[in-house]
Amino acid sequence: MIEKYLAELAAEHLTRRIVPLESGTGPVVRIAGREILLFASNDYLGLARHPEVVDAAARATHTYGAGSGAARLISGSLPPHMEMEQALARFKGTEAALAFGSGYLANIGVIPSLIGRGGLILADRLCHASLIDGCRLSGADFRVYRHNDLDHLTALLSRRRRVRRTLIVTDGVFSMDGDLAPLPDLAAIARSHDAELYVDDAHGTGVMGRHGRGTIEHFELEDAIPLQMGTLGKAVGSSGAFVAGPARSIQYLLQTARSFIFSTAPPPGSAAAVVAALRVIQQEPQRRARLWSNRERLLAGLKHAGFAIAATASPIIPILVGKADDTIKFSEQVLAHGVYAPAIRPPTVPEHTSRLRVTVTSEHTTAQIDQALAAFERAGRAAGIL
Ligand SMILES: *Cc1c(COP(=O)(O)O)cnc(C)c1O
Repeated sequence: MIEKYLAELAAEHLTRRIVPLESGTGPVVRIAGREILLFASNDYLGLARHPEVVDAAARATHTYGAGSGAARLISGSLPPHMEMEQALARFKGTEAALAFGSGYLANIGVIPSLIGRGGLILADRLCHASLIDGCRLSGADFRVYRHNDLDHLTALLSRRRRVRRTLIVTDGVFSMDGDLAPLPDLAAIARSHDAELYVDDAHGTGVMGRHGRGTIEHFELEDAIPLQMGTLGKAVGSSGAFVAGPARSIQYLLQTARSFIFSTAPPPGSAAAVVAALRVIQQEPQRRARLWSNRERLLAGLKHAGFAIAATASPIIPILVGKADDTIKFSEQVLAHGVYAPAIRPPTVPEHTSRLRVTVTSEHTTAQIDQALAAFERAGRAAGIL
């Protein structure tokens, strides 16, 4: 059974492979003994290697140890965890926040806390896998609406047999397409249909909005969407996730979210890194400015070269290819020209929409971006994409 499955994956060019880095993350990494330009990381602001963030992690590790020793409710709640949640609530402008070990854990814990059997979940078709798993785990009735299709969503809502507890679930920034959910419309639809809206802002946190507070800040919807989820392993440069919101909602999640209750607290170093990173996000807005100007340069160059680019509104820039084997060929050619960006294939994305997922950060220089553009163009011709 295992052999047959693996053989089928290989035949369809869908085998997943780990690419080992021989260096830390950053704009330049070592892969198989070569210096490679990395256009694949979600460390959008370079905070994973920011000296203040690294120092904070090192100091907390020396003071409190490498691990937390237990779940937060058992004996693992150390000063950095409390400081992290206070810093997250301040950053988000909410009464309270609760931290989770990862975004995956947050979604599979929070959604089943918000809704259960008898309820109805309507989720965007391109939602992250962790949201889908959270929806399934909740035991609620679970339907998907076409990507960002408000008419489809409204139709599903008006077809509800009786008005049941309803949760609308979406990414803020879609992780494989880079476009945004139409949150103002979704919030209005949720309100008029007596539904709640759950937004996973993994890729918006630190990136979107005037102060980097996320997609909800970008759309100025703080009052309409009181519960906000984001992750800490992407632009925040550390690890983990959070939900921020009214104190009573956070207290309820602390009592009910099983992935919080029954999982060891994150290492104190990663919590202290979050506190430092949130400070840097607020004190160094030039990082966000560089990120957006780098994104403009890369996006304009790729479009000028003639690539088919998804309708992105973020530093995630997918080059659409179509077939899985063509996408692999393209990514191999790109790597041969000294640039790494991953080939994303089904089931991560729908059939016939395989793509090279290119991400850019504030730390890429314009010379590196131009070098990457030249590599994409040459590789595109060699692979027959251009
Ligand atoms: C990355 C991601 C997650 C998972 O977060 P982790 O902290 O990596 O587990 C959840 N949702 C979305 C939309 C993501 O992009």
